[in-house]
Amino acid sequence: MKKTVDDCIFCKIAKGEIPSTTIYEDDDFKVMLDINPASKGHAVILPKNHAANIFELEDEDAEKIFKVARKCAAAMMEVLHCDGINILQNNGEAAGQTVFHLHVHLIPRYNGDTVNITWKPGTPEEDAAELAARIKAAVK
Ligand code: 5GP
Ligand code: ZN
Repeated sequence: MKKTVDDCIFCKIAKGEIPSTTIYEDDDFKVMLDINPASKGHAVILPKNHAANIFELEDEDAEKIFKVARKCAAAMMEVLHCDGINILQNNGEAAGQTVFHLHVHLIPRYNGDTVNITWKPGTPEEDAAELAARIKAAVK
């Protein structure tokens, strides 16, 4: 039995209550074309179990989702003839998340396209070793 949330649009899509342009589906995931694509063929992977973000994602779904990403990305490369593909996932408003049901973006990239997923490289952190040690100690 999948965990769903009543007022979650992606749960409704995952259950088939709202139609979507599906490119892949199995017992645990649905993959659909994004309604406002960043580029031609932009797709999103939804787990059928509701998880607001990566921290709520069940281990089993976490283990499987990258395999689904690879499978779909390979098909997209073949069909779309794109030159590359970004696979990304946003957690929290600050990170650009707008739909609070975890999803993984598959964004086909075309040479010279105007998709903007970049950052300005910073300078090396002086306290990198101390920072790394603190995070390392917090990893569970
Ligand atoms: P986020 O910003 O949360 O990482 O991404 C949410 C994505 O879901 C956006 O790219 C948005 O266009 C897409 N999206 C939102 N609502 C719908 C919908 O009803 N159907 C589809 N196919 N995509 C949606
Ligand atoms: Zn949901």
